[in-house]
Amino acid sequence: MSRTVILFGPPGCGKGTQAEFLFNALELPHISTGDMFRDHIGRETELGVRVKEILASGALVPDEVTDQMVEERLSREDMSSGELLDGYPRNVSQAVTLEKILSGLARGVDDVVVLEVDQEELLKRIAERGKTSGRADDQDHDKALHRLHVYREETEPCVTWYEQRGNTRVHRIDGVGTIEDVRARIIAALQLAS
Ligand code: ADP
Repeated sequence: MSRTVILFGPPGCGKGTQAEFLFNALELPHISTGDMFRDHIGRETELGVRVKEILASGALVPDEVTDQMVEERLSREDMSSGELLDGYPRNVSQAVTLEKILSGLARGVDDVVVLEVDQEELLKRIAERGKTSGRADDQDHDKALHRLHVYREETEPCVTWYEQRGNTRVHRIDGVGTIEDVRARIIAALQLAS
């Protein structure tokens, strides 16, 4: 049976950490747009050069660039099993694009997992991560604040969009606690074997 799961959560919520375990538990291809962009930047590809400054500033990459990268990646995956999406969609326009891609395959989004963490805790975690991640967008308080703002204004409405559509299960999960606590909550919500 195929399953498409989207992981949502503000910067610093632990999305990347949980995506790694979920990817193993669900045995689905893990598609992280943030990782894909960072990979392009590291390899200094044409796309990487184009988006480097955007990522460093904490703004979103234009939809047409992101949508094209995701479509190209999805066309290479064996889509029959489904996928775990992390960082995409990030606004309602991208959610509509994803819907179109999936409906061409007679598929939809089965589950949305949202990790919720309050802003004060997020800023603390991002600053801590910035000491070791080397990510320009983690090291500057104003850029971190900007990413949180973009999440609230552009990405949160995607979650509401899925809630209103009714054919997707939306699981809002408390993201505060140990990594294991949060993992256990996700396992319970998605009814996975622990
Ligand atoms: P975080 O959630 O910690 O901000 P990500 O790795 O998901 O980290 O994303 C890092 C950056 O990559 C974003 O701030 C944005 O610039 C870019 N990015 C990632 N996914 C998308 C997307 N779907 N649309 C536009 N920009 C994106």
